[in-house]
Amino acid sequence: MRCIISIIMNEPLKKLSSPKVGVVSLGCPKALVDSERIMTQLRSEGYQFTDTHKNADVVIVNTCGFLDSAKEESLASIGQAMKDNGRVIVTGCMGAEPEQITAKYPNILAVTGPHQYEQVVEAVHDAVPPAHDPYIDLVPEGGLKLTPRHYAYLKISEGCNNRCSFCIIPHLRGDLVSRPIHHVLFEAEKLIHAGVKELLVISQDTSAYGVDTKYAEYPWKGGRRKTKFYDLCDALGQMGRDAGHEQGIWVRLHYVYPYPHVDEIIPLMAERKILPYLDIPFQHASPKVLKAMKRPGNQEKTLERIRAWREICPDITLRSTFIVGFPGETEDDFEYLLEWMQEAQLDRAGCFKYENVEGAPSRALDGHVDEEVKQERYERFMEIQRQISEAKTQSKIGKTLPVMIDDTDDSGGAEGRTMGDAPEIDGKVLLRDSYGIQPGDVVNVEIEDADDYDLYGVAIK
Ligand code: SF4
Repeated sequence: MRCIISIIMNEPLKKLSSPKVGVVSLGCPKALVDSERIMTQLRSEGYQFTDTHKNADVVIVNTCGFLDSAKEESLASIGQAMKDNGRVIVTGCMGAEPEQITAKYPNILAVTGPHQYEQVVEAVHDAVPPAHDPYIDLVPEGGLKLTPRHYAYLKISEGCNNRCSFCIIPHLRGDLVSRPIHHVLFEAEKLIHAGVKELLVISQDTSAYGVDTKYAEYPWKGGRRKTKFYDLCDALGQMGRDAGHEQGIWVRLHYVYPYPHVDEIIPLMAERKILPYLDIPFQHASPKVLKAMKRPGNQEKTLERIRAWREICPDITLRSTFIVGFPGETEDDFEYLLEWMQEAQLDRAGCFKYENVEGAPSRALDGHVDEEVKQERYERFMEIQRQISEAKTQSKIGKTLPVMIDDTDDSGGAEGRTMGDAPEIDGKVLLRDSYGIQPGDVVNVEIEDADDYDLYGVAIK
């Protein structure tokens, strides 16, 4: 028995952007009921159905494997769908032996077995996400958020494969689990449609993205993208440009571990596909302390890389965090860190005094540092960084910089951030006489004054 299902129920008039699914249902009545269940679920999510493969965004073939002749018919139907459309999901009895299908059609999007409704629906979501319907959806398109409307955090993975000795996150959250790239990009797209202008990419270890999936590849917008740091940055940058906003969407990277492949994304920053901003927690500079922390030890090479990054992208902003008073840190180690800071001239640096966290392996290390010494080192570190930051902010006076507006008041005042400032953690730009602008606008601001961390200016019309 073979049926190509066209119209179900009394179709209300749907908006044109609803994704369309073609369904070919083969086999017995049980298989037909399976098809109905899948279609009912998809319909409730706003999908439409079409009776021609060519009009469909994706085609589901529910197969029968009862007899050899039924298998042949199933394979022929899959072949026809591949020829007419090319985006095909296979389910049903033949899906119990997926190799029979993938051997003949290696580009099938997904193969699931009989009664695996949820997996089929998930595969459809992956291939063509459901359209948001403001009339029936209870949750706004961008999801419920705790950040202002114009920026949002985009979490790309959970857990961490590193074992830094001061950290208990791998113990709490386990090893790295990366979200498939099309899930992340789909979420980013929804956020942009909902009005988000700045995406802040976060994880425990952003540059390790996809390692756990062996860089699994998925279809996206007519092509394929790998679950990989570079692909993610490139795709997000492209998405921002495609969104058609005058200045694109700002994409900011946080918690980037300094692996060598980070070098590959600096040209994307120079091209302004993503923001020229890297948040890299270096934690220390002394090779001995870094070894005790179980972090990479070659900071000389890191200085060379920072120099190379600045050659490719001269206005890159580098932010980092450091720990002072780590067990075993001597005065020499600390001075090494201060000298390194003078060389590196990081734009922003936060500093923490080492805390002896319950469960962290570093508790067992020798040479714990007195609290007064930690405090004294913290103050010396922050003073050096204040001087570096002051010189950097002063050098911006007289320049015109694009600024993302975060807040405005009734008297023409506004608060915003340059490309080099992340919300909450970096500096601000405080604007005067700036009427007619609103949060989420990117305006050109002439910088008139500066203090240690913040800038002051006026929007240029
Ligand atoms: S400090 Fe960061 S990179 Fe190191 S183990 Fe913890 S989460 Fe992972």
